[in-house]
Amino acid sequence: RFRQEVRDFLGKEMPPDWMAVEFNPEQELETKEDWAFCRSLRRKMAEKGWLSLWWPKEYGGQGRSRIDYIILREEIFYRGAVGFDGLACIMLAPVLLAYGTEEQKRKHLTPIARGEVQWCQGFSEPNAGSDLASVTMRAREDGDYFVVDGQKCWTAMGQHADWGFFLVRTDPNAAKHRGLSFLLVDMKTPGISINPVYNLLGHPHWNEVFFDGVRVPKENLVGGKNQGWYVATNVLNSERVSIEQYAICRRALDRLLQYVKQKEPLAENPVIRHKLAALATEAEVCRLFCYHTAWMQDKGLNPIHEASMGKSFADDVMVHIADAGLQILGLYGQLGRGSKWAPLAGTIEATYLTYPPWTIGSGSQEIQKNIIAIVGLRLPR
Ligand SMILES: Cc1cc2nc3c(=O)[nH]c(=O)nc-3n(C[C@H](O)[C@H](O)[C@H](O)COP(=O)(O)OP(=O)(O)OC[C@H]3O[C@@H](n4cnc5c(N)ncnc54)[C@H](O)[C@@H]3O)c2cc1C
Repeated sequence: RFRQEVRDFLGKEMPPDWMAVEFNPEQELETKEDWAFCRSLRRKMAEKGWLSLWWPKEYGGQGRSRIDYIILREEIFYRGAVGFDGLACIMLAPVLLAYGTEEQKRKHLTPIARGEVQWCQGFSEPNAGSDLASVTMRAREDGDYFVVDGQKCWTAMGQHADWGFFLVRTDPNAAKHRGLSFLLVDMKTPGISINPVYNLLGHPHWNEVFFDGVRVPKENLVGGKNQGWYVATNVLNSERVSIEQYAICRRALDRLLQYVKQKEPLAENPVIRHKLAALATEAEVCRLFCYHTAWMQDKGLNPIHEASMGKSFADDVMVHIADAGLQILGLYGQLGRGSKWAPLAGTIEATYLTYPPWTIGSGSQEIQKNIIAIVGLRLPR
């Protein structure tokens, strides 16, 4: 019933001809009006209590299950709907609830639940990606403030963000995992500058973010000084529950199926039928991984290697769908949304160009496998 309620809402609110092709539909917004639509849809989701669906009621949540939350995210991404700020809702909110002070919870959870803010994540740096503990952005104490200098990269939504959560180095002399802290930063603070970085479709997906003497109040420290690694790894665990990856795979697969069914020789071709059957099976496994991790969260468990298994599996499915799409559509599959010859409004071009990079986001396949080996299989570090 809840799934149907979400579908009905999206069917009513989204333009009927809306056909998102990117992983992250916000990347396809171009005009001021597009962004205004995005913000208004976010507020409507907020009015329904969906952004904070599983949070405790005392912080503006509905106290619903994580399974319901997965259903919500699945439907939103399948429809390619804009407005759901995953950075705030999926990544930040769980750690604020777990590690935030009462004041931080009151100050930041309410605007997230109301759909009033956009957040960004400042973890990666030019020399700290997979090896995230090598972060060098430096935060020095100065009275009631940290003064922060350094550079982040690959900061998605940085150019639109009101606030960001940043991993910074507060103790350069400690072992590298132990000298990090997690700071909430108002993106309008003087000293922050931002340069866009474009993805393969030419959309400004990422940003370089530079900090030059940025003053951050100490009250914005989450989880204690030099405890940032533990907060950050929990952010990443939440990010790796990959229902969005499943939803966009299923969307591309359903569009491919529709195409094949309309072209009878293709629909009867046993090679293509088997390829589609195998992809549907993979996608279903991917979905079940996500429901399993949500079920664990509902039981109060913390899915670490389970989330990595799901993410790693979903990464493969994304690449398989992109490959299959190009094989089935042939060279027309390369044509983009602007071309009248592009089948499926350029879905396969976008799939091919924007899905594979996501196999690196929130930790590459190799990093997921390292986590599975260490945490899941208890192999030595
Ligand atoms: C779509 C997308 C969105 C992103 N959004 C954000 C964001 O909003 N904020 C943010 O902070 N970051 C973001 N990132 C960055 C992302 O977290 C990093 O790209 C990722 O951690 C990998 O780091 P890197 O790109 O520096 O690659 P590297 O760490 O340089 O890795 C390069 C290659 O070496 C391999 N490798 C590295 N170490 C090992 C090892 N120990 N064992 C085996 N293989 C290894 C990797 O698997 C990879 O294939 C985003 C990335 C993507 C793709």
